Amino acid sequence: MRKSILAAAAAAAFLSVPAAAQQPPPPKLLVVISVDQFSADLFDEYRPQFTGGLARLATGAVFDKAYQSHANTETCPGHSTILTGDHPARTGIIGNTWFDQSVARQDKWVYCAEDEKAPGTSSSNYKVSPDHLMVPTLGDLMKARWPQSRNVAVSGKDRAAVMMSGHKADQRWYWSGKGFTTDLASAPVPRVVPKVNAAIAAALARPRPPLQPTPFCQTKARAIPVEGGGKPVGTGQFARAAGDANALRASPEIDGDTLALAAGLADEMQLGRGAAPDVLSVSLSATDYVGHTYGTEGEEMCLQLTELDREIGDFLALLDSRGIDYAVVLTADHGGKDIPERERLAGVADAARADAGLSADVMGPKLSTQLGIRGPGLRGGNSGDLYIDDSLSPADQKRLLDAAVAAYRAHPQVAAVFTAAEIAASPMPSGRPDQLSLLERVRESYYPGRSGDLYVVLKKDITPIPDTSRGFVATHGSPWDYDRRVPMLFWRPGFRGATVQVPAETVDIMPTLAALIELPIAAGSVDGQCLDGTPAFCPR
Ligand SMILES: [Zn+2]
Repeated sequence: MRKSILAAAAAAAFLSVPAAAQQPPPPKLLVVISVDQFSADLFDEYRPQFTGGLARLATGAVFDKAYQSHANTETCPGHSTILTGDHPARTGIIGNTWFDQSVARQDKWVYCAEDEKAPGTSSSNYKVSPDHLMVPTLGDLMKARWPQSRNVAVSGKDRAAVMMSGHKADQRWYWSGKGFTTDLASAPVPRVVPKVNAAIAAALARPRPPLQPTPFCQTKARAIPVEGGGKPVGTGQFARAAGDANALRASPEIDGDTLALAAGLADEMQLGRGAAPDVLSVSLSATDYVGHTYGTEGEEMCLQLTELDREIGDFLALLDSRGIDYAVVLTADHGGKDIPERERLAGVADAARADAGLSADVMGPKLSTQLGIRGPGLRGGNSGDLYIDDSLSPADQKRLLDAAVAAYRAHPQVAAVFTAAEIAASPMPSGRPDQLSLLERVRESYYPGRSGDLYVVLKKDITPIPDTSRGFVATHGSPWDYDRRVPMLFWRPGFRGATVQVPAETVDIMPTLAALIELPIAAGSVDGQCLDGTPAFCPR
């Protein structure tokens, strides 16, 4: 179905694309930027304000209906789709963590980007590894075809860098609390890494003055009280005390540092100037931390996006100055949503925080007591994948599952509950990402052996953070479009794009980039498909 829509749209909208005979040679460097928690809603709202790198990229092909189409819109699954071409049902990355009762260690939670077999580890003190990613990335396939290709990733988060680069990274650097570190023990350390880390340490040792808001950002400044014990948000300007690394991470500063390292690696490794194409993945984490800490509609996010636009512009200008033939894709691992307190002021009447009683830590013991089963019985959060204790007898597991499904379905804040059996029996969706049912979205997040025994979907506009006292006031992770719809921009020098209304998915990025660099992808080997209307010429 999507193929014919795409073909028709291509015929109608892209008649101005030059014929294949005039096709420019493939670019030498692919730059893939993921802006963590950058919803399409935010991109649309701020697009008229952008004057820097985001404005430049918006002159390319802008897919207006682009989706991380699966249900569990978290960071690790989202990043796993971007350069593999596959949904989490194939990448195996169903969430940032999952519960695996078969692992040998005490802690049965497993982090998506760890090796849980490493001695002495836990899901919070882990050894970084791509082992859980079940498919190759574009960089992995490029290196298999062209051994001289370089596959490089930089991020504020280890899981983002791991999922974008995959199994055969040449360099992979991510923020570790006070500087950038790597899991690639045998890769040589580029000279730029200690330089950037030293510059960060010097900057961190000094207090940072507040940012000066633009007139547009001043219109956003309004203090909003937050329920659940958190502090009011809405008027922050990122002033930082000396040494406060957490404040650095939840500010535009960390994106600037990440881009500085990416630019330094491009220079030192001569990316885009070798015999074969290279890929540089950059995941910018600050938008996510700003969204979680302050919500998305205050002065804080406005300042963050203003700085992001400027910093991406500076980064692209540096690539220009080196004369590299490059192409850029910009997208996000998921969207996000504002705090319910401010949404209600904006007229979203049903916006609310989740009832604390929805947590598996509350629901499990309650149901176990009712059923006479030893607790806690149920693991997980207040939505998404929930797990039944498999040390219970099969009969008790069944009783607890039935009771949990009934209890969640009866809750007024719950939209749907699916059992693993229902999800597994549902075919993989093939329709448009904007028209998938809830069950189809959940199916794209389902991977046997990692997914839960039941999947709980909260109603639209319910924020699953009842307790805001620990600092996070807003989040993402739902199957609703504010969390699923993301920007998707393809840009190359000299390519004039348009805003494209054809529905697209982040799994389409990998086959599109593969076509651009003339890397053959076996038909049907990935979930995504090459997109017309981009700088790529899709194989027919
Ligand atoms: Zn994220």
